[in-house]
Amino acid sequence: MSDKSAEIVQAAAKHHEKVILPSVESWESSTEFPRDAASAAARDGLLGLYCPPDQGGQGLSFAEGIPVFEELAKGGGLYAFSLSMHNIVTYAICGFASPALRAHWAPRLTAGASLGGFVLTEPQSGSDAARLRTFAEIGDDGSYTINGRKAWVSLAGVADVYLVVVKTSNEPGHKDIAMVAVPKETAGIRFGEPYQKLVSPFLPIADMFLEDVRVPADHVILPPGKGMSGALMAIDIARTSIAAGCCGLMSAALDTALSYARDRQLFGQSGLDAQGIQWMLTDVETDLVASRLLYERAAGLLGTPQGAVAAAHAKRFAPDAAVRATGTCMQLLGGYGLLALYSLERMYRTAPVMKVVDGTTEIQRVVIARALQKRAAELAPLPIPGTTV
Ligand SMILES: Cc1cc2nc3c(=O)[nH]c(=O)nc-3n(C[C@H](O)[C@H](O)[C@H](O)COP(=O)(O)OP(=O)(O)OC[C@H]3O[C@@H](n4cnc5c(N)ncnc54)[C@H](O)[C@@H]3O)c2cc1C
Repeated sequence: MSDKSAEIVQAAAKHHEKVILPSVESWESSTEFPRDAASAAARDGLLGLYCPPDQGGQGLSFAEGIPVFEELAKGGGLYAFSLSMHNIVTYAICGFASPALRAHWAPRLTAGASLGGFVLTEPQSGSDAARLRTFAEIGDDGSYTINGRKAWVSLAGVADVYLVVVKTSNEPGHKDIAMVAVPKETAGIRFGEPYQKLVSPFLPIADMFLEDVRVPADHVILPPGKGMSGALMAIDIARTSIAAGCCGLMSAALDTALSYARDRQLFGQSGLDAQGIQWMLTDVETDLVASRLLYERAAGLLGTPQGAVAAAHAKRFAPDAAVRATGTCMQLLGGYGLLALYSLERMYRTAPVMKVVDGTTEIQRVVIARALQKRAAELAPLPIPGTTV
């Protein structure tokens, strides 16, 4: 780990200890997003990880910045997810927005005065994202007038600027897809009621309705033809960050289980001396180590031709491992594992969410399978019984 990475991970650990841990239980019983915590995250340098210092950011590579989400998710998986999404939006604005748009938003986003949201999914298009219907008509002056309905918008109504992925023609496929920055105050935007979901009501997720929403030409982040590849790059960063977050969940669950088992007397010995319990804990530790290696490798490959598949491996493995780990650790506390006191039941409810957000486990298999098909196409034929070669 570089010095820069060690420093930011330490800042994230401090944020976890001082800001997340003391408040996470009260967040979990609230429908208010903790904006003050996000402001504290900005003061801790956690809201402009991948933006250059002259725009208020930290100027980190993905490999240096993504381990932050392991630390943050130890206390709150969906809080970490929301800050990860904000960082990706901020990176896109710092790197790809017009000078005027960047000058307006970059300092606000890196300072935590504003938050960013990413808006791709629609009711009929989740995994099959290119089937989106939200349509932007491009005016002679280059302005975009957007109509449509989005779904699963995280930080709905809380974020101040949304990167919205739109179609710009009636042609099938993704060659006309663009990405546009839409400030929350723009006329014609409305959010639905927040979804009632398994965990973390403090993170509002809702539909977004866009009715004749007009933004000027300088709000285009990626023009038609580049929108889908840009969205996929954003998703690769998000997948890797989620795998890091899963490591945070596993690590926190394992520490709780280790500490409890050490002190719990079972049949005249410490729980930690029972071999059956040791084996359960060793499996959690192996899953954690493997997941960490996968996300660190992916973080180093993001932006290269191997990045998408590496991110898919990490996102395919780590959430399943987190589901197993949080379940095992909860079981290791017996009845006490079910109590809110130890937070394991919350981690256990958070882990399955990680299997869905930013591409399901099954979709990661689809990505990996496509890479395997390409590899198969390059292999020399083998004699197969009953066929001629
Ligand atoms: C907590 C949370 C926050 C989110 N935040 C955002 C956000 O901020 N912005 C945003 O744009 N989106 C967001 N999403 C949406 C998320 O990206 C989608 O839910 C996800 O991509 C899956 O889409 P879907 O829910 O429509 O499921 P579908 O695509 O309808 O899939 C249904 C099932 O079919 C499986 N499946 C689909 N295709 C295949 C296949 N080819 N082979 C095998 N199985 C398949 C899936 O794995 C899944 O099990 C969020 C989701 C969650 C849960």
